Amino acid sequence: DFAQGVALYVEDVTVSFDGFKALNALSLTIGVGELRCIIGPNGAGKTTMMDVITGKTAPDQGKVHFGSNIDLLRLRENEIAQIGIGRKFQKPTVYEELSVFENLELALKADRRVRASLFSRLTGEQLDRIGAMLERIHLKPSAQRLAGLLSHGQKQWLEIGMLLMQDPKLLLLDEPVAGMTDEETERTAELFLSLAGEHSLMVVEHDMKFVDQLTQGHRKVTVLHEGHVLAEGLLSQVQNDDRVVEVYLGR
Ligand code: ADP
Repeated sequence: DFAQGVALYVEDVTVSFDGFKALNALSLTIGVGELRCIIGPNGAGKTTMMDVITGKTAPDQGKVHFGSNIDLLRLRENEIAQIGIGRKFQKPTVYEELSVFENLELALKADRRVRASLFSRLTGEQLDRIGAMLERIHLKPSAQRLAGLLSHGQKQWLEIGMLLMQDPKLLLLDEPVAGMTDEETERTAELFLSLAGEHSLMVVEHDMKFVDQLTQGHRKVTVLHEGHVLAEGLLSQVQNDDRVVEVYLGR
């Protein structure tokens, strides 16, 4: 499905709420393995766009394809979650009364392909996968801690780790570093950069320093405004685009 190098293809998508167009002929393509940051002022349509991709909101018109031939508009929300699209909302949602390890274990067992009962014993390979994930999300020393006792940033990492246990092809992340310390933000950028290539990522973010860290001077960013793409290009280019400056600073 992903042979042509396209992970996500959105064409001419419009979503209206009582006549108001939250998305207005939105078109956007994300390549396989690409890490794309989406920026834009409040109300630009970023959340609505992710709602359409994940099957939560049905558009009035347009196309949304996953890979080269999976029509996401024909699938239900739960089906979309199972074909390799993981979404992380702004607030962390982890099982606070379970340990970090148990959170990852549950995420692994919830994967349809694993088909493990919640009470079955982990295989050696599964234990190794959880161990590798604990290292990747910087939580190895906290494996046995209750998730509820983690810092805000650590909870965000744990939730990202839970998504990754199901090996999604595409990850949608909504303001993942909101509320993180500078150090946590930097480590999150490192984590995302290590995921790119293996996964495709769409990161909605307001923190321009973080966006800069993610693009590393060569990745494209997309600026959304009034439900469509206002500008697309290098951060250095779009930041100097008159229309973008006007949207952020004008009015
Ligand atoms: P963003 O995430 O970029 O801040 P949203 O996608 O949340 O933008 O919202 C885009 C626009 O659509 C906003 O003006 C918002 O008020 C409106 N909107 C979003 N969801 C609904 C809804 N369920 N009903 C009515 N209007 C909505």
